[in-house]
Amino acid sequence: MEATEAKMKEIVQEKWQKRPLIISGPCSAETRDQVVETAVRLHKTGKVDMMRAGIWKPRTRPGSFEGIGAKGLPWLQEAKKLTGIPVAVEVATGKQVEDALNFEVDVLWIGARTTVNPFSVQEVADALRGVDIPVLIKNPINPDLELWIGAVERVAKAGIKQIGLIHRGFSSYGNTEYRNAPMWHLAIEMKRRNPGMLIINDPSHICGRRDILQEVAQEAIDLDFDGLIIESHIDPDKAWSDAKQQITPEKLGEMIGSIRWRKEDIASEEYHAAMEKMRQQINQLDDELLQILGQRMKVADKIGQYKKENNITILQTNRWNSILERAYGKGEKLGLSKEFITKYFDAVHMESINHQNKILNS
Ligand code: PEP
Ligand code: MN
Repeated sequence: MEATEAKMKEIVQEKWQKRPLIISGPCSAETRDQVVETAVRLHKTGKVDMMRAGIWKPRTRPGSFEGIGAKGLPWLQEAKKLTGIPVAVEVATGKQVEDALNFEVDVLWIGARTTVNPFSVQEVADALRGVDIPVLIKNPINPDLELWIGAVERVAKAGIKQIGLIHRGFSSYGNTEYRNAPMWHLAIEMKRRNPGMLIINDPSHICGRRDILQEVAQEAIDLDFDGLIIESHIDPDKAWSDAKQQITPEKLGEMIGSIRWRKEDIASEEYHAAMEKMRQQINQLDDELLQILGQRMKVADKIGQYKKENNITILQTNRWNSILERAYGKGEKLGLSKEFITKYFDAVHMESINHQNKILNS
């Protein structure tokens, strides 16, 4: 299929609206044959809307493969002409934007290592001024929503109308289960703050390995993400970058085929009535929890006053340990995880400390 540029623009517009939007392709473009074969095999699955390929690779340490560079761009052009699948590339500098546009790349994305740096994001945004192309913005490597939002704002101010988000997880020291911890709550908050903006999930860079890709992809779909970007390679173990997390195009096709797609809503009155009833229950319980938390703070205030009169420190480590131990025991019987109990009690405890601090120093 020969796709003209005008026709490609139409296809990209249509794909941008499609749900779920599925993007796949190699971490890096390596050779002409690898790019073309990947495209053909992805096309054959019938499940892929856009093809990704890294041309310039931001690597943690020098000396590893840093991307094939602009010489790979004609390969993507060829792959696109052959399959009709639009192509997406990561850009991090003004020059890279220029090169990508010269070779008719259809969609650009800003990588996690670039989103952290406002200078780089601004440079990319400046190069995009006056250009009509969709841009996907990955979350920054550190869990900082403001940086992510800042990048969206810089690109929007440059006049880009179609902006989407990619949730690829966050780097954390000593984290072993995931290459980048998903911290789903941050992606959910980003979605809440940008209603209507496309947000897709990148299980490959969250997992860093193949065996848990499917479960992370399913979790994203259950959380109502708009699509997935998953790395695929014709011979994953031999990939020049991110070999451990890549899968073959055929495996990708199977994976997309076996995801359970869910609806956000249905038009059944019975369903809505039942949901409304349970949501009322939740609201009622939330109100009660807030009342009780307010009462708890009042007692903490009294304790603060008493500590002040007796000149005692706010924090007593033994007391705090015994509160936590009690809560773990009780929580376990109620089906509440230790992780949740810790986070919840930390928050409640910090609020008590803040209250008592004010009292002691008033
Ligand atoms: C990539 O998508 O190949 C990539 C470099 O990812 P990230 O920016 O999420 O690290
Ligand atoms: Mn990669």
